[in-house]
Amino acid sequence: MKELGIYIHIPFCKQKCYYCDFYSACENEEKQAEYFDVLKKEIEDVGKSTENVLVKTIYIGGGTPSFVDSKYIVEIINKIKDNFLLDKELEITIEVNPGTVTKQKLQDYLEAGINRLSIGMQSSKNEILKKIGRIHTWEEFLECFSLARKVGLNNINIDCMIGLPKQSLADVEETINKVIELKPEHISMYSLIVEENTPIEKLIDELPDEETERKMYHIAKKMLEKAGFLQYEISNFAKKGFESNHNLDCWHQKEYIGFGAGAHSYTDGCRYSNIANIDEYIKCYRENRIEDSIEIHEKQDKTSMAKEFILLSLRTIKGCSKKEFYNIFGYDIEKGFLNEFEKLTKVGLIHIDNDSISLTEKGLDLANLVWEEFV
Ligand code: SF4
Repeated sequence: MKELGIYIHIPFCKQKCYYCDFYSACENEEKQAEYFDVLKKEIEDVGKSTENVLVKTIYIGGGTPSFVDSKYIVEIINKIKDNFLLDKELEITIEVNPGTVTKQKLQDYLEAGINRLSIGMQSSKNEILKKIGRIHTWEEFLECFSLARKVGLNNINIDCMIGLPKQSLADVEETINKVIELKPEHISMYSLIVEENTPIEKLIDELPDEETERKMYHIAKKMLEKAGFLQYEISNFAKKGFESNHNLDCWHQKEYIGFGAGAHSYTDGCRYSNIANIDEYIKCYRENRIEDSIEIHEKQDKTSMAKEFILLSLRTIKGCSKKEFYNIFGYDIEKGFLNEFEKLTKVGLIHIDNDSISLTEKGLDLANLVWEEFV
């Protein structure tokens, strides 16, 4: 039986954050209801045509899944349960944003089987949150976190960001300290990426320089490790046993199916996505033109699959297992990519031992230079 992850895209947000280029829109109740009708149909259709798969993880992301009525989330989970075989240890994550969460919603999530919550917090400084267009304050985040604990959610991730406008090293230190005090199970720490045509471009002069941003990363990493969070990927830290299975599977090139407008999938060596437009997505399903709603991005051959396998697994701290590579691709990884590995070892970006290939401390800082070799 083939193991699979499921990703559900909820493309609705109360307001767009200034740095965001994910597919999401600020739509009304009526459009949301229409969207969820189609989403349920998509899950049912794919479920019927998919055999011999076991779902290991479900990830409900967005957008802001907590922005919509929790009845929709419950319906979606039930639809998956009715149409797929689920693993006994199923991990179900939902992303939520402070300012859109109520106790009732959290209770509904828990009762539906959601066992992991990922809260978009980003910074403990209200001035910075405002600057980047977040809809919430630090106080609202605290309320969200405490409600989640009260209803019994015991696997919580908090998203933090570095490299934000007007953010100082002291700000990062303060945020990480405050987050550690809350004792979450998992902390993600992402660097701001300035995407083209997003409003954050106007604040480019207020962003910390590259060296300061690297210092922010080092400070946060050190503080988190000291507090008992193990780094298991470039941007992810967890208490032992609380790593995100969904993310780990993605970095190990495991297959997943994405449902909803703009959702990406990876099956049978093919990367594809649904059309990133709510109206078009609904229309294609209503008019039974499902093939028009799918865009194929890449049908991988063996070499591009192997390169991607290396690139993804090097994101993890454990790195790329030589044995696993051999079992999947049937040849020795070091011989297959001799030039690339020689070059990267020489400049100190990767480390090769008997079992695996992984990024060095320097490689963690300059991971982009490593990716370049395998893209
Ligand atoms: S809440 Fe998330 S998805 Fe929505 S606009 Fe902000 S960053 Fe983008």
